[in-house]
Amino acid sequence: MTDRRRRVLLKLSGEAFGGGSLGVNPDVVSGIAQEIAAVVPKDEHDPEGVEVAVVVGGGNFFRGAELSQRGMDRGRADYMGMLGTVMNALALQDFLEKAGAPVRVQSAITMSQVAEPYIPLRAERHLEKGRVVIFGAGAGLPYFSTDTVSAQRALEIEADAVLVAKNGVDGVYSADPRTDPNARKLDRVTYQDALIQGLKVVDSTAFSLCMDNRMPMYVFGMEPAGNVTTALRGGDAGGTLVT
Ligand code: UDP
Repeated sequence: MTDRRRRVLLKLSGEAFGGGSLGVNPDVVSGIAQEIAAVVPKDEHDPEGVEVAVVVGGGNFFRGAELSQRGMDRGRADYMGMLGTVMNALALQDFLEKAGAPVRVQSAITMSQVAEPYIPLRAERHLEKGRVVIFGAGAGLPYFSTDTVSAQRALEIEADAVLVAKNGVDGVYSADPRTDPNARKLDRVTYQDALIQGLKVVDSTAFSLCMDNRMPMYVFGMEPAGNVTTALRGGDAGGTLVT
């Protein structure tokens, strides 16, 4: 492991892109991009940098489950959700490039004008060259979430950890902090305990995929500024380590 740089999979929810509202907030995305650009390797031979792959959510546009509750066909609604993630991927690509980081977007749904297809070995090559790789369109499959895709992509590209950046919450709590005043933040928790206690921060499919394959997950808040950079470098960003 000594001759290999740190490699991480960063999950950014759609909420992060919208800054709490529908669509993309350029100021917010620019801020995230600068925090990522600060850690990426200068080139293939830079031993210091962090190889960063990103899975983007799409909740700032559409969530399939919500649309299907309002009468849409679930599969079609999920494809709309996946297309939303591609818009976020392109926005992040743009601001990363403006921040000086080379980027490739790979989409699980083929759309060759805007993104490469998802080719895992090629993604790894990009990372080795110091490029950020953004995975859009989720898994390309309805009934999946981008949380689950984060776990799957992290495993396939052999990342050291999945880093889950959250808006409005800064880790895993013993209960829902919005409703339970006794909820306390956990520094560490096992996947098994998180699943048994129903601690909801990512979905259970993502948790169990990581648990079964011994992939550590770090859940942390995007605030204050600099937290994303700290987490990417493996520092203490005040979050929760799930193992
Ligand atoms: N989605 C899907 N398959 C995937 C990933 C995503 O069908 O592999 C759809 C699903 O409808 C989901 C939406 O895309 O609600 C947006 O993704 P997600 O809810 O995971 O985004 P986030 O909550 O992270 O913003």
